[in-house]
Amino acid sequence: MNAVSVYSDYKGKVSASCDVLVIGSGPAGGVVAKILAEAGRDVLLLEEGPPYGAKDLGQEASDTLRRVVREAGMRAARGPTFMPTMQVIGLGGGTLINSAICMRAPDFVLDKWAEKSGISALSSEVLTPHFSEIEKFWNVELTPDAVQGERNLRFKKGCDAIGISSQPTPRNVKNCKGSGECFTGCRNGAKQSTDVSYVPAAMKAGARVMTSIRAERIVSDGKRAKTVIGSVVEPITWRATHEVEIEAKLVVLAAGCMATPVIMQKSGMDGEWVGRDLGFHPGLALMALFEEPIHPWQGATQGYQSLHYLKEGLKLEVLWAPPSVLAARLPGVGHAFQANLLDYKHMAPFDVIVAPEFSKGRVKAKRSGFDPDIYYALDQRDIDRLMRGMGVLSDIAWAAGAREVLPGLHGIPERLRSREEAQILKTKQVKATEMITAANHAFGTTRMAKDPKDGVVDEWGRVHAMDNVYIVDTGIFPGSPAVNPMLTAMALASRVAKHLA
Ligand SMILES: Cc1cc2nc3c(=O)[nH]c(=O)nc-3n(C[C@H](O)[C@H](O)[C@H](O)COP(=O)(O)OP(=O)(O)OC[C@H]3O[C@@H](n4cnc5c(N)ncnc54)[C@H](O)[C@@H]3O)c2cc1C
Ligand code: SF4
Repeated sequence: MNAVSVYSDYKGKVSASCDVLVIGSGPAGGVVAKILAEAGRDVLLLEEGPPYGAKDLGQEASDTLRRVVREAGMRAARGPTFMPTMQVIGLGGGTLINSAICMRAPDFVLDKWAEKSGISALSSEVLTPHFSEIEKFWNVELTPDAVQGERNLRFKKGCDAIGISSQPTPRNVKNCKGSGECFTGCRNGAKQSTDVSYVPAAMKAGARVMTSIRAERIVSDGKRAKTVIGSVVEPITWRATHEVEIEAKLVVLAAGCMATPVIMQKSGMDGEWVGRDLGFHPGLALMALFEEPIHPWQGATQGYQSLHYLKEGLKLEVLWAPPSVLAARLPGVGHAFQANLLDYKHMAPFDVIVAPEFSKGRVKAKRSGFDPDIYYALDQRDIDRLMRGMGVLSDIAWAAGAREVLPGLHGIPERLRSREEAQILKTKQVKATEMITAANHAFGTTRMAKDPKDGVVDEWGRVHAMDNVYIVDTGIFPGSPAVNPMLTAMALASRVAKHLA
């Protein structure tokens, strides 16, 4: 088996050739590399970031996220609200720091997608075998009670008490210790991120893997891609140090929905829909403060969820993130802020994400560099739905025994001390400028459509305008998946890869 090529292996210009070049090692790229390598194809998997190990990951968020997340963790969408969004630069892509929640897009979503895209294959009948195969390989299991911790169990208690359904989250883990560290990477080797699952499996089947190489431009001859031009990129400084030229018979873009349109635009593949129709699942969170200690750092990062309002576009979850990240949400300055920090052990953050119907965004390549210019207009009607979710989260918190709720919204008291006071969450209209939202589910910038006039790729992920360029990342979603996007991206990628194989 080949070893993963790393930065120190490159001494000058890098030249290579392959049958299939997969660009990006996140969930979508990982699946494609494994399937095509196992089918006997000559696969080269390219990844801009380095491989990380337990020694590179620490609970101190500013240090870990600075290294692992693009733009040092400071990436945000412009628009009426400042909306941070995180994409990883490293072997494993988003699977390195995500919460490992594996959800199949529900039937009502696939029906909507089929109608919007004109592609009838977007159905659970077609995707079920792909979902099942991935879930089996990836050890997707419902989070057991043993690693839920009080934070997750309080959410369940609150949902039960107000009569709404909830369930443990299905996650791709083996022997999860419930250390609540998914956000800064699993140091316990439990999370099955692609760097420890799909990538090694692809390599075992013969795939070559080159990290610290950025694909920058696809050079084509008419409708056929011939070569990918790029740079060797030094880890952490992200400085380009050597040229790269790779000949490929087929190119599969799995660079993520923020990077793939940038590569296409820089390659002159800037059709009407490239970069357009960017979708997010914006989220809001409140802190439930309990009298008794909750020890929220114990328990699976996101162990419980409620799909009760999913058809209304709302998904409710328990959340955990490193204290330094959550501190941004706490009110007060000086001693008051210090007192809030000391209350941490009594707090449980609950969040809601919305599948927007009216908000719109787009991604554009900047004149220089490879970071995207991201614009997103969060529509008031979607904010109103998010606030409906906050109202339900507050009900869950009180029913779970909270003594206070900290909503973290401008114009609403910092501390809501009774159910009655918390009614304001249901009555006050909050504007985009009054909230701190974040959105780590992104999709839709190279959407799938039967008719080339309506999208970028066809039902097999092939770029309409090209014979041998395919896209498999979340960019090909025709809309919001309503649930966490990773597993659905992998199922679509699996279908494309099996077709290609
Ligand atoms: C904190 C957090 C928590 C999340 N939790 C969940 C969850 O629990 N469940 C879920 O379903 N989703 C979750 N998500 C979202 C999920 O991780 C993403 O939707 C998913 O990773 C997208 O997969 P992808 O393959 O499309 O792209 P990515 O995972 O972004 O992978 C793209 C890869 O391509 C590489 N790349 C980019 N540009 C280039 C280039 N030019 N050359 C070479 N390589 C390049 C990147 O470095 C990256 O490794 C979460 C995200 C975050 C940030
Ligand atoms: S909760 Fe802890 S042990 Fe479990 S997958 Fe996340 S980081 Fe790993």
